[in-house]
Amino acid sequence: MDSLQEYFRNADIAVLALPSNFTYGTAIVERGAVEIIARTSTTVEAWAGGLEGTVRQGGGSRRRVQLRLSGDQLSWHCTGNPKAHDIFCKHCVAVALFLKNAE
Ligand SMILES: [Zn+2]
Repeated sequence: MDSLQEYFRNADIAVLALPSNFTYGTAIVERGAVEIIARTSTTVEAWAGGLEGTVRQGGGSRRRVQLRLSGDQLSWHCTGNPKAHDIFCKHCVAVALFLKNAE
């Protein structure tokens, strides 16, 4: 796998995240609340979130997300997550789905 976009087109993003976070992240991207800051073929940095409404509607704070692919190894960080507990959160889901569906 040589690009992050190809990775997400082949991966089941729902498996990376808790079902609730997959639902919330899907709502965030469907409402257009993902903004790419910088992107290479194997890295992306983006803002996600900052919408009004309930969590289920994609509402919540805006967070900065970094995703990186090294070989077949995906790594991620969201500024909303504590360092020791870096789950694939709703913001990571939103950015991953954005990339998957981008041109
Ligand atoms: Zn997050």
